Amino acid sequence: MNESSPKQDASSGNAPGTTHFGFRDVPVGEKQKLVGQVFSSVARNYDLMNDLMSLGIHRVWKRYFVGTCQVKRGDRVLDLAGGTGDIALLLRDRVGQAGSIVLGDINGAMLRVGRDRMTDAGKVAGFEYVQLNAEKLPFPDASFDLVTIAFGLRNVTDKDAALREMFRVLKVGGQARVLEFSEVKSDWFKPIYDFHSFQVLPRLGRLFANDADSYQYLAESIRKHPPQDELKGMMQAAGFSRCEYRNLSGGIVAIHTGYKV
Ligand code: SAM
Repeated sequence: MNESSPKQDASSGNAPGTTHFGFRDVPVGEKQKLVGQVFSSVARNYDLMNDLMSLGIHRVWKRYFVGTCQVKRGDRVLDLAGGTGDIALLLRDRVGQAGSIVLGDINGAMLRVGRDRMTDAGKVAGFEYVQLNAEKLPFPDASFDLVTIAFGLRNVTDKDAALREMFRVLKVGGQARVLEFSEVKSDWFKPIYDFHSFQVLPRLGRLFANDADSYQYLAESIRKHPPQDELKGMMQAAGFSRCEYRNLSGGIVAIHTGYKV
């Protein structure tokens, strides 16, 4: 995969039976495998690269995301696409000893890094690790008080199915929250953001993780992700009520919230 300029993202919509993997159209059945290869490749350097690429700002977004979730001590929480456990670790303090967190991810390598990291930090009790596909959750209806997914939905092939599953496993009164890259709002910032995405990120990937392609995919997948209002509509279609979103850092990321009533 070669580096591309943002202008190459001219395609909109997909041919029948295909979906996007970054700016490429691929058969629907292939995307999961390709995304799996990306995260198996980045797992070891994932946390370092997040800090480098965002200059540590991802930590602020994640703190705000967890700090503003509707959750209380004793709650049972599902963190989907939980990866190396940033969100789960922050949630731990909010649910306390009486609560529990299921960290679910499709990728065994990411889950292993997460579990090792938590174990090294002495955080063992109250966590469960489940290898799963967000499109088809292995939990009964109404199992969780809160369901979160941070920087994960973008990578899921059938996002509508994942949202419907999030709705299904929530208890009535529960909240779903999505933290994801979104559409930058200010025109003056867009060229700077594009330069960072398409010129800086793949080079950082090559330099620090010997992997430019995965970071090229990151930049492209952000451009293909449904923007704020579209994602809000998808959440409503999945059954959520009182859906709303909040932009952070001018729309670089957005937090979407919905409730099961
Ligand atoms: N939530 C973590 C964070 O904020 O640092 C990790 C986010 S990482 C960018 C995206 C994660 O989504 C990866 O760990 C990947 O394996 C996972 N993922 C991708 N497709 C998935 C799916 N269909 N079901 C569950 N997890 C998935």
